[in-house]
Amino acid sequence: MPFDRYNRDISYLRISLTDACNLRCVYCMPEKMTFLPREDLLSDAELHRLIGLFAAVGFRKIRFTGGEPTLRPALVDLVARAARTPGIETIGLTTNGVLLAELAAPLRAAGLRSVNISLDTLDPEKFKKITRWGQLDKVLAGLDAAAQSGLRVKLNAVVSRGTNDHEDVVALARYTVTQPWQVRFIEQMPFGNNATFQNQSIVTEDELRAVLAEAYGPLELVNQGRLDGEARLYRIAGAPGCIGFISPVSKPFCADCTRLRLTAEGVLRLCLLRDNEMDLRPLLRGGADDAMLTERIRAAVLDKPWGHGLEQHVIPTRGMSTIGG
Ligand code: SAM
Ligand code: SF4
Repeated sequence: MPFDRYNRDISYLRISLTDACNLRCVYCMPEKMTFLPREDLLSDAELHRLIGLFAAVGFRKIRFTGGEPTLRPALVDLVARAARTPGIETIGLTTNGVLLAELAAPLRAAGLRSVNISLDTLDPEKFKKITRWGQLDKVLAGLDAAAQSGLRVKLNAVVSRGTNDHEDVVALARYTVTQPWQVRFIEQMPFGNNATFQNQSIVTEDELRAVLAEAYGPLELVNQGRLDGEARLYRIAGAPGCIGFISPVSKPFCADCTRLRLTAEGVLRLCLLRDNEMDLRPLLRGGADDAMLTERIRAAVLDKPWGHGLEQHVIPTRGMSTIGG
């Protein structure tokens, strides 16, 4: 098993399949974006090879993300091949849900078990304002298809002050009263492309818990506060679903971090919020054999930094969509 120098079990790889997206969420990227040329993205064959090597090193979980991973033409096949890779136990997908109505059933058949859908509001006008281009009904159709296909559903909402910090949070949390889903609220993080805006509009977990307790009564702590991935879970009394808080800014979970990220162009990112990186693409395209690549992967695990430096104003240079959220 791959342990880092702080004895964390680093066994979870988040793979960005593209930096491109069909939305332009205001906290994620500007409206005018230039995306990587296709030849700069890792090919399907390069991804298959790397997934096999990470699995052989001891990685057990992968998540496809982006940009918007459903824009990758071979997504279903990538999931199917990852599901057949010895050692890979869990495959996840993080998506804006726009294309999920058509993709949910084939993805489920390919071996996907759970999907995280980003949804910040149930108000169509506000949804359009946040995503700039999005149509809420498409995402709701995707959500419906995911649930119908038997995928475990988690909703991710990034909360911005003055935009979706009250009634939207209450409305999204209501899903947990009728559905066995996790609805998770994410604190906004600062990235180089947008740090001032993000710092100004962050809403903390404590504020949100107070808003929800006012609407639903005191929330019950789930699992004695043990994190589920990066989320601390609560429940509205008697509800089948859970409310999660992902609070990297106000309650960092670096001590429990188990992940590395692979960007769409093949750069291994050792911490979301620090610029420590290792570029695997020159090795992949320069004829490196499996032993050489495996050694680099092990070295990257050992080099993973302890935690982020937001308190010391260390802000990542890349934007979220170019890393892989
Ligand atoms: N396009 C897909 C989606 O939106 O789910 C996957 C990529 S997106 C970058 C992954 C997650 O990052 C989304 O849940 C999104 O809301 C979140 N995200 C983007 N920018 C963020 C920021 N500045 N702070 C916190 N979360 C952010
Ligand atoms: Fe696209 Fe996801 Fe970023 Fe929104 S958060 S712009 S959907 S990559």
